[in-house]
Amino acid sequence: MDKNTMQSLMRQYSQALIIVLFTLMTGFGTSYVLYDKGKALAKQQLEAEFEIEFRELKARVVNKVSAYQQVLRAAQGLFEASDDVTRDEFRIFVSKLKLDQFYPGIQGVGLSKVVPADRMQDHLEAMRAEGFPDYAVLPEGEREMYTAIVYLEPFTGKNIRALGFDMYSEARRREAMQTARDSGEPVISGRVKLFQDSADAQDVEQITEAGILMYLPLYDIPVEERYSVTERRESLRGWVYAVFRVKDLLRGELDRYNGMMKLRIFDGEEVNTDELMYGESTRLERAVYTVQRTMDVAGRKWLFKADSMPEFEAKLDLRLANRNASAAVIVTLLFATLFGFISVSRTNAIIRAREMTEAFNQSQERLKLANDAAQIGISDWLIGSDSVFWDEGMNELYELGTSETAIPVSSWQSLVHKDDRQRVLSELRAVIANPQHSRFNMQFRINTPSGQRKMLRSVGEIHRHEGHAGRLIAVNYDITDEWQYQVQLAETEARWRHALEGVGDGVWDWSIPEHRVTFSAPLAHMLGYTTQEFSQNPDDWTARVHPDDRPEVLRSISAMLSNAEPNYRSVHRQLCKDGHWKWLLVRGVVVEWNSKGKAIRAVGTQTDMTQQKTLELALLQSEAQFRDAFETAPIGMALVGLHGEWIDVNHALCQILGYSESELLQRTFMELTHPDDLGLDLEQVRRLISGEIRHYQMEKRYLTKSGDVIYALLSVSLVRNSEGQPVHFVSQIEDISARKQEEERIRTLAFYDVLTGLPNRRLFEERLRYNFIRSRRDKQPFALMFVDLDHFKAINDTHGHDAGDEVIKYAARQMLKGLRASDTLSRFGGDEFVVLLSEVKDANTAVKVAQHLGQLVAETFSLGDLQFNLTMSVGVAMYQPPADEDIQSLMKKADTALYQVKAAGRNGVALFEGTDPQAAQ
Ligand code: GH3
Ligand code: MG
Repeated sequence: MDKNTMQSLMRQYSQALIIVLFTLMTGFGTSYVLYDKGKALAKQQLEAEFEIEFRELKARVVNKVSAYQQVLRAAQGLFEASDDVTRDEFRIFVSKLKLDQFYPGIQGVGLSKVVPADRMQDHLEAMRAEGFPDYAVLPEGEREMYTAIVYLEPFTGKNIRALGFDMYSEARRREAMQTARDSGEPVISGRVKLFQDSADAQDVEQITEAGILMYLPLYDIPVEERYSVTERRESLRGWVYAVFRVKDLLRGELDRYNGMMKLRIFDGEEVNTDELMYGESTRLERAVYTVQRTMDVAGRKWLFKADSMPEFEAKLDLRLANRNASAAVIVTLLFATLFGFISVSRTNAIIRAREMTEAFNQSQERLKLANDAAQIGISDWLIGSDSVFWDEGMNELYELGTSETAIPVSSWQSLVHKDDRQRVLSELRAVIANPQHSRFNMQFRINTPSGQRKMLRSVGEIHRHEGHAGRLIAVNYDITDEWQYQVQLAETEARWRHALEGVGDGVWDWSIPEHRVTFSAPLAHMLGYTTQEFSQNPDDWTARVHPDDRPEVLRSISAMLSNAEPNYRSVHRQLCKDGHWKWLLVRGVVVEWNSKGKAIRAVGTQTDMTQQKTLELALLQSEAQFRDAFETAPIGMALVGLHGEWIDVNHALCQILGYSESELLQRTFMELTHPDDLGLDLEQVRRLISGEIRHYQMEKRYLTKSGDVIYALLSVSLVRNSEGQPVHFVSQIEDISARKQEEERIRTLAFYDVLTGLPNRRLFEERLRYNFIRSRRDKQPFALMFVDLDHFKAINDTHGHDAGDEVIKYAARQMLKGLRASDTLSRFGGDEFVVLLSEVKDANTAVKVAQHLGQLVAETFSLGDLQFNLTMSVGVAMYQPPADEDIQSLMKKADTALYQVKAAGRNGVALFEGTDPQAAQ
């Protein structure tokens, strides 16, 4: 090889090396990027999950606190209903709330009264007389205003110590008390130290536990929203309040977050360990995810902060990232191998082509210059004769070392390699026997005396004479180098084929002049064929390409053949034997060119794209995992379009609303929203879109498919695209009907009598007040009746309290039968009922109604074996508009009339008239 060839060879190999290195580098780079992307995606997903968990947790805390507000509302109801709630009554009330069971964490519920300075002495005396001889209002000293804790239930242990404490004297408590007083709403205090947490009264300083107080004001008159702050301040009587520890409030509530996240709640809008309401004061070292949000909780701002914990962080799923990366590494190696082999074999091919051209040129020359016949031998055989004539060149080729000009045919035969001998002879015979043929071109091995193996090419012509074979003249030359090279090439190719096929690719080898492609078995198998079935005709291959892809495939193949593009690469569909289309990646490169620069051989690979499709699918799968979380979330979740249409809803939401998914997707959230809540909801949506707020949360009502009204806690945020344009809403909808029912239960406790379910005194007085207004307006009289069962105590004493209860319930049921829907029957306590006849013509009619009620109650009542014949006494008072009369005086009249009946021997009705009640019966 000359110097130029050497240099070009070096250049070719270094190019190949560069290609391989480049492929490896970019490939591994891509793998890393894929891994990194996968990891980031997984992290992002987990972060979103963390956020969802956090929101739910936050909602739980807020719900819990608002449920506790109901306790105070109930207590407020109790005090507003009656001017003088006794300590015993309050104790019974609190015990009925079942704090332990329903409101863990509440240390006590109490009443703090405003004590005007000039009434202080009376107050102290009254309390001391009640059985607290050491009672004092503490701390001592002169203040503008005093308050005192007068009730605190359960009245045991450390709660007793709080009696008489003036909470208004302490700044933090005062702040909350004032806010509550001015707003009329329940308000919680900042973090305070509780008496309940100290070992004795002195070491309040040592307390570290966060305590909270919640206040709800009491006014002389039930306050309404329209009252001014001044009116509220002036009519302030005191506060009902609850004491609790946030830790206990949330005990058990956050169990499901154990190991997942650590929650800390701070009072205020900043992280400030002095204001820690809940959780540990130190933040978690190395928490991967941290979220914080401020929320309004009962009139205060609380900062919620959650740090992720190892158990949650361990959920980071790197399988996808790993899978992507390893797939990419495999693909890289495959490419590098392919490029390496293709480049090497191409380099070899180029060198060979050059050598051949050179050899060809040389031989041309040699043929021409007969004297320079060193490697060329000419033989001449008279067909049928025993010997062959040949020249000097033949002697050299065969290395015979003689100068003979002829050799016996048998000697020549013995010099031909035994494995080729039969073939050579039969080829010769065939050529001689066939008059149509005159030329031959053979190659065969010979054995030289030195033991060297040579490959000769023999190209010749038969000169016939009148149709008979005459002489056979041949030119012989040595092609050992070329042959060895071919053997080598074949071995190399076999090796790379093996390597490529080992990684699952199919290999093809296209001999262009022959119009024939050799396909490897894996390639045929990829399309469902055996090698035998697989046609070697390139046209059949083209026919299998999908018609839509064919033009592009043909274009890029011809670009490769014309050397316009260095490589051929296409992804297209091919028809499998079973009629399916398969996506394939086909690559190729021309490895041999003839001296005119025409491509004569191309090789390449074919890869099943299923692998890559799997990669794509893997990426899609992360989306699927999100879907999965969405689908299985325990609370309702939805993507909602900007016009309120449901875009995507999860199973839980369908369950809550009672619609199937497809039914929901045809509706908007507006259609399903309770009309009374729609305005507020839409207003929030508007603020969200305008950017005034980032998300909102509200309690609202939805109408389910069956027409039921359900309560839900709705949290909405808005997703914007990279340009900041709103895209859709993400809504979380939690069914809180159960909580509402609990609130309802408490409300019932405040307004209704537990035994009979009838309105209690508070509700009754409300209705009575309303009736006054209406009666004056419509100039319609109404009647008030006081009812008391006769000798009821005897029933209790004889048959027991339970039987007594049944009798009370019976009396209530019977009386309801005689009343209209617009009337109100109320139980004031014991066996005492009050009836309001809202529309009654005159006193006479009222008395008749009362008598009818008496008859109904008098019907025999059977309870097990017992039979009761009840009687009752009724006092009736009429209100005649526009008389200037108030509730108290009207009630007094009815009561007086009742007393009259009782005094007259019971079982009757009396009407209060003028200043004297008149017995009607
Ligand atoms: P009178 O004819 O004078 O009304 O005699 P009376 O026995 O009915 O006396 P009164 O109305 O004063 O008695 C009411 C009694 O009802 C007193 C109390 O022991 C009893 N009581 C109060 N609340 C309940 C209750 O919830 N259930 C039962 N079974 N008894 C009650
Ligand atoms: Mg009675």
